[in-house]
Amino acid sequence: MALIVQKFGGSSVGSIELIKQVATRVAKTRAEGHDVVVVVSAMKGETDRLIQLARQIGSQPDNRELDLLVSSGERVTIALLAMALQEQGCPARSLTGRQVGIVTDSSHTMARIEKIAGDRLRETLEEGMVPVVAGFQGIDQKSDVTTLGRGGSDLTAVALASALGADRCEIYTDVDGVYTADPNIVPTARRLDRVSYEEMLEMASLGAKVLQTRSVENAMIYRVPVVVRSAFTDGPGTWVAEERAEMEKVTVSGVTCDRHQAKLTVIGVPDRPGVAATLFGAVAEAKIVVDMIIQNVSQEGMTDISFTVPRDDSRKALQIVQRVAAEIGARDVQLADGIAKVSIVGVGMRTHSGVAAEMFQALARERVNIMMISTSEIKVSCVIEDKYAELAVRTLHETFGLGGVKRS
Ligand code: ADP
Ligand code: ASP
Ligand code: MG
Repeated sequence: MALIVQKFGGSSVGSIELIKQVATRVAKTRAEGHDVVVVVSAMKGETDRLIQLARQIGSQPDNRELDLLVSSGERVTIALLAMALQEQGCPARSLTGRQVGIVTDSSHTMARIEKIAGDRLRETLEEGMVPVVAGFQGIDQKSDVTTLGRGGSDLTAVALASALGADRCEIYTDVDGVYTADPNIVPTARRLDRVSYEEMLEMASLGAKVLQTRSVENAMIYRVPVVVRSAFTDGPGTWVAEERAEMEKVTVSGVTCDRHQAKLTVIGVPDRPGVAATLFGAVAEAKIVVDMIIQNVSQEGMTDISFTVPRDDSRKALQIVQRVAAEIGARDVQLADGIAKVSIVGVGMRTHSGVAAEMFQALARERVNIMMISTSEIKVSCVIEDKYAELAVRTLHETFGLGGVKRS
């Protein structure tokens, strides 16, 4: 008998019919003799709908209020799923983040989990019930509701699996595993049987939203075996687990794309010590995450600095950078919203050379201009114009021989 955490995403609980199907799957796992803890997201589109409601009141809603608002989506699905399980003769109890004891810091809308009590879950399991836990939410020290960032139900599931010492964490979604590229963009994308934690972490942080980045980070640190499967069909899915030696034979495992970034360029920056520290210090103070940074070679004591930030933060970043630019005597600040970051990822890059050059050549053949480049041991990323994003992903997927048979 195993202890399994099963997480169902928004599209898997998008209607009453689907919620009933999820209940059937959970009840089946339990009937096989396993202990199951279920984590659910809000119904498909619900979190976006709630955010839109808040934006109709003001363009920058208060994050504490926003967290309380969006956390309501998951309360609906836990109650409905618990009812559906009970209806099928499977004892179940819905539990909010607060009831489970998921304690986070107070960074509303992107809170970090600090501890999970776990007792209530164990008690519920001992009573012979299936706990149905609201994903994405926790409470801080003041008992205010917090949320864990978009896609945060994945993190709830992995964190519960590690806190309970579960045998595995199963993530059920609308695709039947992790693919070599987003199967909704690349029809020839192939399902991977296994992907290492490290590769999955890069893929997630570079735009493959099938798993939330922080959930992968958590799984990697606590060595939680994760499997991504379809909520609608049966199949082996993709295991996210330890790296194996044979994985290095494949140079590139996946191609990803992030279309949620923006580029800021500060032009005519005086080239003297402390300028970058002042600029990025101000951006960091506003809790804006900076991704890529490029500084040009200085000419006549002046240089240009470009960097990328999440698109949602770009207006706020622009205001800050304009203020700092005036202080340090820079000439101008430009914001480019229409950019995308395409990346290739693979542990095999550690042992193969010329991979970056091959990527640049492939983009050049399609006449796609590269604005920024960044590399790590197992990835190469290029910032390009957003209108070429899908073309670039398909081209790179083909160039690195990742394609399988085109799915109908
Ligand atoms: P859920 O609502 O179940 O959490 P998400 O929409 O967050 O589901 O994640 C699933 C989606 O991730 C898929 O529909 C797919 O479009 C997208 N995706 C992006 N990259 C990949 C990839 N490499 N493999 C599989 N799916 C991917
Ligand atoms: N409902 C939340 C979101 O849409 C959390 C999740 O689905 O994982 O981001
Ligand atoms: Mg998701």
